[in-house]
Amino acid sequence: MNEKKKTICDLKRLGGRLCLDFINTLDWRGTRQPVEYMHTYEDLTLWSRCAGVAGESEVAALLQTAWADAAKADRIVKGAVKLRETLHRIFYAIIQGRAPAPRDLTAFNTSLSKTMKHSRIVAVKGGYMWDSNRDKGALDWVLNPVIRSAADLLVSSDELKRVKTCLDTACGWLFLDTSRNQSRRWCDMKFCGNRAKASRFYQKRRRA
Ligand SMILES: [Zn+2]
Repeated sequence: MNEKKKTICDLKRLGGRLCLDFINTLDWRGTRQPVEYMHTYEDLTLWSRCAGVAGESEVAALLQTAWADAAKADRIVKGAVKLRETLHRIFYAIIQGRAPAPRDLTAFNTSLSKTMKHSRIVAVKGGYMWDSNRDKGALDWVLNPVIRSAADLLVSSDELKRVKTCLDTACGWLFLDTSRNQSRRWCDMKFCGNRAKASRFYQKRRRA
């Protein structure tokens, strides 16, 4: 079958929070061969576009800058992957009822300080909100909303309790369980849930 190669944009964004969708850009995390979707700066901008962080013209501007300084763009995507893995370790520890490693919190706080330097409160209809998208001349501004999203989730004790990992340990995706009785077990019932159902059916038939 001549299947088109899956891009970072084809990944489902089911995490329920931007930071969780960002963490899920490494697929099959629980296997010996996880599938990486964040290879290049183009991947980072593509994901930012699909996840609603950056608009088309913003992405075009970023790519223009990135092409002029490929080494810097490369450093930024490596930093993005490092941040993603730090976030995964922090949230995964919390899911398991452990305290995150102090060095991970320190690394996250370093990123957060930088983000906060480029954040402000803006007036919107009916109130105020954070705008962490300033400094649009910088190649890594698209990470600011991800970092903010992680910070918000970490301090929201109510939501933090609802962060879960897919019951399929091979999948390893994280998500926010917003179901009323907190019964969501799979990142995607149609995918991981059905695969588990099919596997149970197969095992049962084999035993029979
Ligand atoms: Zn899953």
